[in-house]
Amino acid sequence: MILLNFNCIFPSCSFKCNDIEEEEFLKHLNEKHHKDMLDISKKENMSIKAVQMITVSNSTVFINSG
Ligand SMILES: [Zn+2]
Repeated sequence: MILLNFNCIFPSCSFKCNDIEEEEFLKHLNEKHHKDMLDISKKENMSIKAVQMITVSNSTVFINSG
């Protein structure tokens, strides 16, 4: 199990959570940003899955623990 830190990239959203699974952040995206992601997918002509993947990766906070 990999725990990550997420800082939601949607400007209207202040969701920020440390040490959660990607699954949990996906739940947040689908609950709160389904419409946002749908808009982006239409605008960018991408599948909603692709938008979701990009959103997750852009919202992941990588910490350099070294
Ligand atoms: Zn959010």
